[in-house]
Amino acid sequence: MSVWRARSFRYAMLGQNDDVVNRWDVRIANGMRSVIDERLRALWPRVRAIAFDMDGVLYRGEQPLPAAAGLVGELQQRGIGFVMVTNNATKTPEEYAAKLARMGMTVPPERIVTSAVATRDWMRQRYERGTRVYVLGMPALEQAVYEGGYFQPAGRDADVVVNGADFTLTYEKLKIATLAIRRGADWVATNADRTLPTEEGLLPGSGAIVAALQAATDRSPVVIGKPEPAMIFRAAELLGVAPEELLVVGDRLDTDVLAGKRAGALTALVLTGVSTEQDAASGSVQPDAVIDDLSVLLDTVRGASS
Ligand SMILES: [Mg+2]
Repeated sequence: MSVWRARSFRYAMLGQNDDVVNRWDVRIANGMRSVIDERLRALWPRVRAIAFDMDGVLYRGEQPLPAAAGLVGELQQRGIGFVMVTNNATKTPEEYAAKLARMGMTVPPERIVTSAVATRDWMRQRYERGTRVYVLGMPALEQAVYEGGYFQPAGRDADVVVNGADFTLTYEKLKIATLAIRRGADWVATNADRTLPTEEGLLPGSGAIVAALQAATDRSPVVIGKPEPAMIFRAAELLGVAPEELLVVGDRLDTDVLAGKRAGALTALVLTGVSTEQDAASGSVQPDAVIDDLSVLLDTVRGASS
């Protein structure tokens, strides 16, 4: 079995349909892989650090994706900085670090930027200590916002309402948020993803709660998560590089790649998640490179200085 066939087979095992396998076979036959590699190789000299999306890039559900652990190890060995950037605000960076560790990736929690953490950091730059905040979201979001005591918990008298996805949403929570926003509170959303992919299927995400509050308040929130550029700017800041020196690697054109482009970063679409090569070819969002999986990036990193 050739390497490529083996790789295709592995994806089939991960739940991709037969089209994927066929598409790769066609590509190998046409010798297209080198063309795609070339775009990444061409932009690599401009890259000083990397921001990875996680789901669909490093793993899918509980299943690590090919070369993810190898790439993380290689970057650490070479001293190339990276951060993980996720819209998902339902888990803490510590929980994500534990998940990555189970898959052989040792990443400190400080290198994992969730939209909850990014929202908190963004708010601290804009609101003074003691600002009263109502959080409509998961414990991970409450922890991020309130930790350190900078912000003060509040209800309908809040100065700022923050919302994310919330698996224990109640009418009472919507009511408090609505009354606060209608009283003039600022409103910040961790992200505007309408759905959240899970093993059970697509569940209501932060954007579904945003939609409910929009209907009740006739207002719209400031959105922190991708495709807004705030998290990419935060990643660049953490890594001490300019946005244009940062390579954003993601599986979604409409969030990861768009956020990267809005921030002025370099972008690579990896085809192990949501967006397809056809999407990249036909869509209005054009990544700088399209790669089959992270092994292409790993090869590029290794090839760069050997
Ligand atoms: Mg993703």
